[in-house]
Amino acid sequence: MVVGAGGHSELMHVLRRWGSVTAELFLGAACPGCEAPGPGLCPACRVRLDEPEPRQVRPTPCPAGFPTTYAGGPYDELVRRLISAHKERQAWLLTGVLGDRLARSVGALLAGRSAAETVFLVPIPSSPAAVRSRGRDSTAALTRRAVRRLGIGRDRPMIMKPLLRPTRRLADQSALDENERRQNLAGAYAVRRLGGRQPPDGAAIIVDDLVTTGSSLTEARRALTSAGVPVLGAAVIAATVRRYRPGADAQVSEADAIR
Ligand SMILES: [Zn+2]
Repeated sequence: MVVGAGGHSELMHVLRRWGSVTAELFLGAACPGCEAPGPGLCPACRVRLDEPEPRQVRPTPCPAGFPTTYAGGPYDELVRRLISAHKERQAWLLTGVLGDRLARSVGALLAGRSAAETVFLVPIPSSPAAVRSRGRDSTAALTRRAVRRLGIGRDRPMIMKPLLRPTRRLADQSALDENERRQNLAGAYAVRRLGGRQPPDGAAIIVDDLVTTGSSLTEARRALTSAGVPVLGAAVIAATVRRYRPGADAQVSEADAIR
């Protein structure tokens, strides 16, 4: 068989992809965090993922209307690898550990508030095209996991309400600077009504995997509040940081966030 240069590299790409997918599915060849041999996330990476205390973060500069936001820790190399594997390489086994870290951020946001208060988690919506190509909405999957984790031991179950939908196709945020991101996201989300015309009882907590410039969370908050849905705040797995010092405000900077 004669294969042209383009066809050959495409074939190699497919084979490599197959190799990686089958390895993850059937062998769990290496830790997705550090590539140590063995099935799934290794104990050392698990400890590192669970180590940071969630705390409040603010992007610099902070967009007007940015919600009170808690992050589970810095967007370090380990978290970058795990979120990328979960989102881009369908490493669904990571939903548990990443969703648990998201749950801790939500817990930090809720600390000191009445357990009887009705709150619900609203995931930032992924584009329909991304969901089609990845086979699943990774943010929604992490949110469902966090809901289960947070519901344990509560009188009132935590619930997810996917109230937001994208209003149009968005440009890839990773290639945009701060101003461009804000423009790209202006009016990007609309609120869908689930089971009735009235806004739901209770307050929303917006959830996402990352906070970078804060544009997505700010726009989500704007869409929800303008539809009459109160927003308590936001929670994310990680904040992209220049400096992440326990006890100090995080400095959130540009990063290779991908939506
Ligand atoms: Zn590892």
